[in-house]
Amino acid sequence: MGALISCPACGAGPLASATVPAGHREGGREYLHCPACGYRRWPPATIEPLPGHGQTCPACGKGALLTRDVTTPDGRRARLLGCDRYPDCRHGEWPNGEA
Ligand SMILES: [Zn+2]
Ligand SMILES: [Zn+2]
Repeated sequence: MGALISCPACGAGPLASATVPAGHREGGREYLHCPACGYRRWPPATIEPLPGHGQTCPACGKGALLTRDVTTPDGRRARLLGCDRYPDCRHGEWPNGEA
C-alpha cells in the first residue's frame, strides 16, 4: 500500500490497511484503520461504472442501478449493477453473464 497516514481522529497513527473478510457484503475491499482509536477510513471507490449505471431499476422502478465491486465465492473480483435500494430490492445484473 501507499504512504503512511497519521490518524485524523487521534493523531497517533499511522493508519494500517486491512481487508474486509470474504463473506461480508464488502468482502475483499481494502480500508485503513487506526489501531489506537478504531477510526476507519474507506478509500473512495475506484469502480469503473458499467453500462446502465444510474438507470432506474427495472425490478422496483424506484431505485437506481449502481455499479458494485464484489468478490465472487471463488475469490474473483467482479462488477455488477445492483439496485441502490438493496436490501429492500435485491435486483442485480451481471454484465458478462457471470453468476
Ligand atoms: Zn486514531
Ligand atoms: Zn430495485
